[in-house]
Amino acid sequence: MIKAMKRLFTVLFASLLAVQVWAYNFQSGNLCYNITSSNNPYAVEVTYEGAWPPSNYSGLTTATIPEKVTYNGIEYSVTSIGDYAFNHCSSLTSVTIPNSVTNIGEAAFAFTGLTSITIPNSVTCIGSSAFQNCSTLSTVTIPNSVTNIGDYAFAHTGLTSVTIPNSVVSIDRGTFSECGDLKTVTIPESVASIGDYAFSGCSSLTSVTIPNSVTSMGYGAFNDCSSLTYNGYDNAYYLGNSENPYLCLIKAKSEYITSCEINGKCKFICNNAFEVNAFLYGYSSLTSVTIPNSVTTIGAAAFNDCRNLTSICYEGNSEPTYLPYAFTNVNETIPVCVPADYASTSWCGFSNLIKGHNKVTDAAVLATCTESGKTEGSHCSVCGKVFVAQEVIPAFGHEFVNYVYNNDATTEANGTETAVCERGCGATDTRVKEGTKLATSVSESAANTINIYAIGNTIVVENATEEIRVYNAMGALVGRDVARNACTIKINNPGVYIVKTGGAVKRVVVD
Ligand SMILES: [Zn+2]
Ligand SMILES: [Zn+2]
Repeated sequence: MIKAMKRLFTVLFASLLAVQVWAYNFQSGNLCYNITSSNNPYAVEVTYEGAWPPSNYSGLTTATIPEKVTYNGIEYSVTSIGDYAFNHCSSLTSVTIPNSVTNIGEAAFAFTGLTSITIPNSVTCIGSSAFQNCSTLSTVTIPNSVTNIGDYAFAHTGLTSVTIPNSVVSIDRGTFSECGDLKTVTIPESVASIGDYAFSGCSSLTSVTIPNSVTSMGYGAFNDCSSLTYNGYDNAYYLGNSENPYLCLIKAKSEYITSCEINGKCKFICNNAFEVNAFLYGYSSLTSVTIPNSVTTIGAAAFNDCRNLTSICYEGNSEPTYLPYAFTNVNETIPVCVPADYASTSWCGFSNLIKGHNKVTDAAVLATCTESGKTEGSHCSVCGKVFVAQEVIPAFGHEFVNYVYNNDATTEANGTETAVCERGCGATDTRVKEGTKLATSVSESAANTINIYAIGNTIVVENATEEIRVYNAMGALVGRDVARNACTIKINNPGVYIVKTGGAVKRVVVD
């Protein structure tokens, strides 16, 4: 019923426009065809069912496209899958394409439920958006008969890896963009250019090898590839291969860099590499850039709006190729340093050439005890190129050797000692002199402890504060003396004697 109504509508609509009644020429099995060659060799393309896309193959889950189809007694070869043929057939999960097909049309399988696809090696062209938004499409086999893959052909798909055959010479705009599951991609040596946004938004892409054959790369080819590891050098990011990791300069490290020395192995500077979104960040802060001899191409708008550039240093002998808008809005009178034997009178539209630089000497600076110094160097006063780098001589540091005691100890703390720097800078250093703390009153009192002992036939009593008495072993008093600091009492008979003074009592032996 619905189909009948659609056909009726198609008839009415087509009648009004006085074009063909049916959108397709004939139906065979569950597929519709348009005759593309009504002469020998007879050929058809698979087309959508209905008057206009999206296709009406509603509910179709599997499509087996035949190599040949017969209509009105004529056998046609199926050579193409027409534009939009299966577009928006979300139920379609599997398709078999025969070896007779050479072309897959624009958006032919876009928005379908395909999970994998094997493209036969008769196909030479995969149209724009052919598989776009097949979010479940995780694997694809692209044969090396394919020379052309159209814009956005595999954009927004579930591809996890892709091998591009070495028959492909260019990867077009957005071809693999927004493939969030794409982790690895192999770009063959046949590819010369990578289009704008080719892999942008491939957030899982961790590494990519750019072969030496690639000579140009469009704007944002790897934008928003948040997992991608770039090769950094000075203030820019590069992609390349194991032989040359700095093949192409992709972008500046930030919107705020002021200078950039481009790696000496870089072959091309990508489109818009140093362009800054002035609306978000203001004009680029870049004031100087050094471009090595290895750079052969400066991409479109690479330095667009770098209005703060005040000099350029170019190290090659002949002018590189520069694409449109490479230096738009850069003051064309700024000096460009080139080698003394540079062949031309202009460089990428700039004519204020400084041949052989303007070399100036950077004087040596002596180091001191506290300030570092520098060796003599030289550089170009125009572009800043350094000929002889100044090396830093570290500060010497003070030299303190002869410390003199300051005689400032107290009973509370050690005293100090001070030295003057031997290098004559006038600096001094004062440090604690250990062991100089003065004795306290407590220890003075300790020094007055009563000592009683005998030397030969003499009893010695020190620091006595009361009368001293000496008794023999029988307890008889045999000698006495008044209190004094050092008292000696001579004994006539050897033996054991008891000495008492105040509370102190001591037994001594006299010889
Ligand atoms: Zn210079
Ligand atoms: Zn010093």
